[in-house]
Amino acid sequence: MRFEVDMGKTKLVLLKGDITVEAVEAIVNSANPELTPGGGVSGAIHRAGGPQVTDEAARIRRERGRLRTGEAVITTGGNLPAKWVIHTVGPVWHGGTKGEPELLAKAYRSCLALAVEKGIKTIAFPSISTGVYGYPVDQAAEIALRTVKSFLEGNPGILKEVRFVLFSDADFEAYRAAWKRIGAEG
Ligand code: ADP
Repeated sequence: MRFEVDMGKTKLVLLKGDITVEAVEAIVNSANPELTPGGGVSGAIHRAGGPQVTDEAARIRRERGRLRTGEAVITTGGNLPAKWVIHTVGPVWHGGTKGEPELLAKAYRSCLALAVEKGIKTIAFPSISTGVYGYPVDQAAEIALRTVKSFLEGNPGILKEVRFVLFSDADFEAYRAAWKRIGAEG
């Protein structure tokens, strides 16, 4: 399952898969504020990356305290194919009235800005907040894609590829459908 579209000089890719095997420069981790491994995609990334990722994340936690929702930090990728891991904290879903949409958009923007700052050209995202954090995937997909689209419009030609690695058929379809809605807006 794969879908690709050109957004100026940047390729946007949606695919079904496991983000820990993606050969991009940076993968994004949906982290917790303590930057501990935890479960879900974060547990998988820490396991595959090994102690280097977990130790660097712990050092960042000690030095700067807990991460706030929407912020992002970077570690190396340890044993991952990706050279870097960008850790961000998405919002927990509380029904949509606690600023969740803006916080989710901020998480994506923080990751993209950090990638640009570090000269990273290819980045892969998981579906932030739609697992344990409970964000409805249809709504999250729309925010994720809209945020990436507007970031690329504001920062044209810098990133080569932005990839979304969706873990299930249903998540892939949700992102694909959201793209259809957004793409139609031009
Ligand atoms: P969150 O706290 O952001 O909800 P989760 O890890 O619970 O974090 O879920 C985020 C998304 O990541 C979910 O859609 C989940 O199915 C997905 N996911 C879990 N493992 C992986 C993986 N190895 N690669 C890509 N996505 C994954």
